[in-house]
Amino acid sequence: VTRVYERAALVGTGGIGGSLFLALRQAGAIASAVGFDRSTEAAERARARGIVDAVAATAAEAVRGADLVVLAVPVRATAEVCEAIAPSVAAAPSVLVTDVGSTKAEVLAAVERALPFPERFVGGHPMAGSERSGPDAADAALFRGRRCLVVPSARARAEAVAECRALWERAGAQVELMDAARHDEAVALVSHLPHVAAFALAAAVGDAAAAEGLSGGGFVDTTRIAASDPVMWRDIFLSNAGPVLAAIERLDGELSGLRRAIARGDGAAIEAIIERARAGRRRVLGGRG
Ligand code: NAP
Repeated sequence: VTRVYERAALVGTGGIGGSLFLALRQAGAIASAVGFDRSTEAAERARARGIVDAVAATAAEAVRGADLVVLAVPVRATAEVCEAIAPSVAAAPSVLVTDVGSTKAEVLAAVERALPFPERFVGGHPMAGSERSGPDAADAALFRGRRCLVVPSARARAEAVAECRALWERAGAQVELMDAARHDEAVALVSHLPHVAAFALAAAVGDAAAAEGLSGGGFVDTTRIAASDPVMWRDIFLSNAGPVLAAIERLDGELSGLRRAIARGDGAAIEAIIERARAGRRRVLGGRG
């Protein structure tokens, strides 16, 4: 599918949506683009950076007449954006609507409730990004060689799924199709739990007077992502609460095991835990890192 979108709309002109539009423009997939953001400063900055050509006053106005709509707002804002753009989408039956959100079951449910053509919606989640946010964090090369999980709802049309897959491939990503439940469980483990751990670790160390002004490599390496945006992560934790809580249980179990082994001076148990950690890390990274 090598459709060229005459008018692409971006709602949420931040780091991830901005990166996608820069990549699609470079690939010649978008002829013109219009953006809307709750922050007019972010929208204007996105225009200055060439992410979009024009800024709309509302989400509905951005989407009116669009043949591609990308939602790139914090996940819990997706429902209200869908309600706002529903009338504009109703007038465009061949539009492709997609998103970049980090959780999927709740997003798909919101889309099915609010959009007149939920069969034209296919969810996307690029497994790339950083702790930076805003249009200045946008980078045309961000998705190159990275995985993008494409998550259709049960109602999505096959052509829309193929089109969404092609879209992410043109942005440089390697696409993998996945259902929403499996997606949410997997990302709770490989993305959301690391953020839980980094936030908890940075808060625990940051509150300790003895640590002030000293930062070892271990602290730097394990807490980079603790500098991430609070609103974005609040929304992710709340919209994926079940899988995130199940993942936290696993971490709790590991912390208790390590604490017990240290308390009873059990060197063999400590070594065994670290060996299991090293093997687990290799397995998850699959030869990388
Ligand atoms: P970002 O840079 O902060 O951009 C999001 C933009 O959306 C902000 O400008 C924000 O404005 C705006 N916004 C918030 N609510 C809105 C609403 N109701 N209507 C219109 N605009 C609204 O965030 P991002 O990193 O691009 O993240 C966007 C999405 O990508 C999130 O769903 C996130 O889960 C997902 N994602 C992020 C990463 C990552 O590593 N960052 C990776 C994969 C997926 P304000 O600043 O005024 O709130």
